[in-house]
Amino acid sequence: MAQNEDVFKKIVSHCKEYGFVFPSSEIYDGLGAVYDYGQNGVELKNNIKRYWWEAMTLLHENIVGIDSAVFMHPTIWKASGHVDAFNDPLIDNRDSKKRYRADVLIEEQLAKYEEKMSKEVTKAAKRFGDSFDEAMFRQTNPRVLENQRKWDELHARYEKAMNDNNLDELKQIILDYEIVDPISGTRNWTDVRQFNLMFKTQMGSSSDNTMDVYLRPETAQGIFVNFLNVQKTGRMRLPFGIAQIGKAFRNEIVARQFVFRMREFEQMEMQFFVRPGEELKWFETWKQNRLRWHKALGLGDEKYRFHDHEKLAHYANAATDIEFQMPFGFKEVEGIHSRTNFDLSQHEKFSGKKIQYFDPELNESYTPYVIETSIGVDRMFLSVMCSSYEEQKLEGGDTRVVLHLPKALAPVKCAILPLVRKDGMPEKAREIMDMLKFDFACRYDEKDSVGKRYRRMDAIGTPYCITIDGQTVEDNTVTLRDRDTMEQQRVAISDLPSIIGEQCSLNNLLKSMHKND
Ligand code: ATP
Repeated sequence: MAQNEDVFKKIVSHCKEYGFVFPSSEIYDGLGAVYDYGQNGVELKNNIKRYWWEAMTLLHENIVGIDSAVFMHPTIWKASGHVDAFNDPLIDNRDSKKRYRADVLIEEQLAKYEEKMSKEVTKAAKRFGDSFDEAMFRQTNPRVLENQRKWDELHARYEKAMNDNNLDELKQIILDYEIVDPISGTRNWTDVRQFNLMFKTQMGSSSDNTMDVYLRPETAQGIFVNFLNVQKTGRMRLPFGIAQIGKAFRNEIVARQFVFRMREFEQMEMQFFVRPGEELKWFETWKQNRLRWHKALGLGDEKYRFHDHEKLAHYANAATDIEFQMPFGFKEVEGIHSRTNFDLSQHEKFSGKKIQYFDPELNESYTPYVIETSIGVDRMFLSVMCSSYEEQKLEGGDTRVVLHLPKALAPVKCAILPLVRKDGMPEKAREIMDMLKFDFACRYDEKDSVGKRYRRMDAIGTPYCITIDGQTVEDNTVTLRDRDTMEQQRVAISDLPSIIGEQCSLNNLLKSMHKND
């Protein structure tokens, strides 16, 4: 674990050093849990967004996009339940003066039991080799059974306390399980209180006509309140979806783990409207579809798992998270929720406008049910970064830091490097750049030794380096160096677009995820 924490720290500083992510307002000592994306970060983030957007809107004839405003009528947040119930249970430690989410403290305790069990399993698997029967081991090993018993017991209490909204019981659990503050190491806890996560501000110029408005805590409501607009103007027939990418704001209590939990972040959400009664079938379909989208990136199939929700929101009849293995454990990257007809019915009630769909096949009107897929751009960014980062030992004792980014997402696709700054090489390099730059993000670099330039490109995950040397000027060939294998091959300049395009195009990525769609 300590080793993983170390790696995570390195990734965070790598992000800063190479222009991916900067702390916000850094020259003023930063602003808690707010970050800026730098020159490489924004490109990676844009590529992630494009991959999602195109997977939704190009691969599905029945999904369209919108871009709704951050500010919305405040009654929307009454109707959605956010004013009354968008709370986290918080608890303070009197010694460290740090604030925590009570539910997160308890979930970390559960994770400790899980970790102990999987350690036993890994140890035994090594010992028994091929003959190892994991299921049998889990059912019989006394240490695993003891931890499983503790897990079950804690889990049952926790689930009940959350379902009953019982804040006293949450505190009692923390005391009974002797959960200590990771900073002060003490158990000097305050009571658990509810805390609303929405940011409030005022709209209007004079004091008598100002109105309290909220910064949206999710993009989804912008889709629901535009349901009729899109359905009517787009002549959409059920089932159909509306996708949106945009900023969301939450006054998170525990702001840790870099861009994993921010106060201003970006979401990619899609609401899929279906006939009542068909929602669970669509829930399953979207679970599989979204997992395919993730896996097509090649970050490692074993790094994903579904985590079904213990506590369903009162409006949901199924919910799961797609979790990704970060250096700090399996964490939610995306939520998939079957939200019933709750949101549309609530907006119908609060706005007084009829929000229904006339189904020509059934010849009746009804309020559609909704399956939501909701993924955080920044968490996706972090999972890509964490699984791509490698410190590699090279032959001869050298090391290099390389980002094995999925090629279609890399901020720069190819670097164009004249070997030396003379003998016509820079001019030839510029010619190649002019040929490639309309299709690929290219970077020209002629400073320092070519070895140093390769390292700089490895560190930002550039899949290809094109080196222009003496021979290029004579026969129009270059060396093409692969980021991952570091192998170089001599290729004709005229072949560059097809080689780079084949490996780096977003289209090919989309095709690979679409295969089984
Ligand atoms: P958590 O339990 O981690 O707070 P959540 O269940 O509240 O997350 P949702 O409301 O389901 O999250 O939001 C959908 C997605 O938005 C999440 O899966 C996550 O990727 C992203 N997200 C939510 N809150 C944040 C945040 N504070 N910073 C970055 N991304 C976030």
